[in-house]
Amino acid sequence: MKSSTVSVEDTPENRQICMKYCGGCPTYKYNSLGKFQPDTLFCGRGRSSAPSMKEVNCYCPACPLFDKHNLVIGRFCHRG
Ligand code: SF4
Ligand code: SF4
Repeated sequence: MKSSTVSVEDTPENRQICMKYCGGCPTYKYNSLGKFQPDTLFCGRGRSSAPSMKEVNCYCPACPLFDKHNLVIGRFCHRG
């Protein structure tokens, strides 16, 4: 059953799914988000600790975890 209260679990599988989307996202590349923690799964682990960030685009809406958890907006790397 879908519920907006289900949080995204921090599992290796979910990190892997995330990297298919965040990993290819222009915002991720532009800001070298792989160098900062958390480096993936921002919707479950919180926003990036990158000191400054330019939002270029967000691929979250295409991600299966986004749909599965009824997430909205996206850009979790920046907005948490
Ligand atoms: S959260 Fe959205 S904007 Fe940030 S890296 Fe992932 S897909 Fe890109
Ligand atoms: S919704 Fe965005 S931050 Fe969350 S796993 Fe998917 S691509 Fe990553």
